Formats: sequence, structure tokens, C-alpha cells
Amino acid sequence: MSTLLITHHDCIEHEPGDFHPEHPDRLRGVMRMLESEDFMLLHRDQAPHADHEQLLRVHPLSYIEEIMGMVPREGHHSIDGDTTLSPKTGEAALRSAGGVCAAVDAVALKQVRNAFVAVRPPGHHAERSRAMGFCFFNNVAVGAYHARAVHGFQKVAVMDWDVHHGNGTQHIFWDDPDAFYASTHQYPLWPGTGAADECGAHNNILNCPLPAGAGGAEFRAAMTEKVLPALRAFNPDILFISAGFDAHGRDPMANMRLTVADFVWATEELLQVAAECCDNRVVSVMEGGYDIVALAACVAAHIRKLMGV
Ligand SMILES: [Zn+2]
Repeated sequence: MSTLLITHHDCIEHEPGDFHPEHPDRLRGVMRMLESEDFMLLHRDQAPHADHEQLLRVHPLSYIEEIMGMVPREGHHSIDGDTTLSPKTGEAALRSAGGVCAAVDAVALKQVRNAFVAVRPPGHHAERSRAMGFCFFNNVAVGAYHARAVHGFQKVAVMDWDVHHGNGTQHIFWDDPDAFYASTHQYPLWPGTGAADECGAHNNILNCPLPAGAGGAEFRAAMTEKVLPALRAFNPDILFISAGFDAHGRDPMANMRLTVADFVWATEELLQVAAECCDNRVVSVMEGGYDIVALAACVAAHIRKLMGV
């Protein structure tokens, strides 16, 4: 079985501003890399819009309407210093969350073994009722609750290796004993959450804060000693990856020193967990990553590993 790549051109047309780090060139760079022959065997699909039913499992109607109502007809509308809407942002945000749901469907129905969702805006900072940190809808959480509601996967797990802590996903999962969230991230760093003692209402949150300057050795130790055993103990029915690549050494937004090889290693380890726990079901969702060269290289290597080549 194969790997599915889901994306949509609308996700390139979300334009938070010429000098904004979450720039359309991020996804352009990734998609250009995926034109190479190495990826001929990828199955490819367009990301559909998330529908209200999918979004409402995570976000209240009032919030969904507020976000869609803020989409400007021209120019920009800023929610805060980081989080800005342009005329295509509503479309892009709907397709980002919808893309994850479509990936879940394909993996659940065994049309493919696993999937990568190459979308923007990212999602892991989006709270139930608050957009922040370049994020509007929590794409991975919407996908996780879709997996439960539609495909009967009770236990859902997210591993988030973005360099920033996924405050939104943590808070959405906090009270849910069947939703597990694990994160490695630089700490302290924006958004300020993700201390080791934030464990969720049911010990269902695992935070592995790492200091500025941490590299592959520290990351692999946190994965090996904490994340991987916890994932195996939780034994998910489907495993999501919040795949941000801003912990790479070239990234301008943080100070960790991971390499492409570290992300490849982590991908391999998570695939092994999925093989043991959930019949290989993995849905990986793009989050951050702001050095365009490093982002494209990391995504390409990550997808090669998902494809098993
Ligand atoms: Zn990030």
C-alpha cells in the first residue's frame, strides 16, 4: 500500500503579508521538491473544505463564524501581531482542516497506508475559540475527532515535534482520556506552555521541553525514553504527527539543532509504533518550518520514509 499526499492550491493563496514568516513560499518550496521523480508513486489528492460538522467537533459555531466573518475582501485583517487573514485565508483554513479529514478517510478505508497533509495555515496553536500563532482551525485535532466520530477509532494520539509547543492541541485534548498528546519543543519559548508538569486531566499529555541549543542527541533521548514508551502504553487506534520542521538547525524562529536525519529517524520510530499499535495508520500534518530550504528537504525525507523508500 502507498502513501497519500493531500494539498490544495488555495493553501498557497493564504497571504499573511510579504514579510510574514508563514509565507506562501513555504508550501511552494515543498511542492516543488515533491515534483521530483522520487515521488512519482505518491497518490495525490486535493484537500476538500472541512464541513461544519467536522469543525464543530473542536470549535464552537460562534468561533467558526467569527473567523469566516473576519476574512477581508481585500488587503489584510490582523487578529494579533502574528495571525493575519487575507482574502483567501478562509478557503485555505477550511482546506487545511478538511485535508486532514480526507487523509483520515483514506487511511481508515485502507485506500493508502499513510498520508501527509501539506497545507497552510498550520493548526496546532489554534485553541477552541482563539486563533493565534499563524493558526485558525486546529487541523490535527479536527482530524483526530473525525477519526473517532466517523471511523470508530476511539483512541487517538498526536506526536508534535514542531519546535513550538502545541498549546491548542494540548488544551483541546486535556480532559479526554482517549486522546493523547506528546510534544518535544524548545522551552522556554513562545507560546509559553509545555512545561513537563502539564500532564492533562488523565495523564494523557506528555511534554518534553528541551533547552535552546538542543540537538539530535537530546531529541532522540526524549523520544526514546519518554515519547515512544508512552505512545506504546497508550496504544492508539490511529497516530497523527504534527510535523513542524522548525526545530531544524537552519530555522530562523528558534534555536534547536535538529537535522534531516533526526526527522527521518523519528519518522521511522513512529512508523514502528503504528505498526505495533494501529495497523500502520499514520496521518502526518504539516505545521511550522520557516527556512524554506530546510523545510522542503525535511518534508521530502519525511515523506520518503512514509513511503518506505
Ligand atoms: Zn513552530
